[in-house]
Amino acid sequence: MTQNPVLKELPGVKGQLLPVCALCEEVPPRGIAGGYLIKGMFLCETCESAILDLKVGSHQYEFYMERIKKLLR
Ligand SMILES: [Zn+2]
Repeated sequence: MTQNPVLKELPGVKGQLLPVCALCEEVPPRGIAGGYLIKGMFLCETCESAILDLKVGSHQYEFYMERIKKLLR
């Protein structure tokens, strides 16, 4: 048994690299072109513009900050 069965059983990979947003966990419709790679994590356009519109102290701001803190750990 020298073969690694994991390498040929990658679920969801069909010859295309589809990034999943680190914040909302969605795949943007335009794929990798529909977002940004920041510090090794992918952020979709929707979350990027949401973050830019956040008001400090709002519930959304807290939500995104918590998620980002966990991701950058
Ligand atoms: Zn997102």
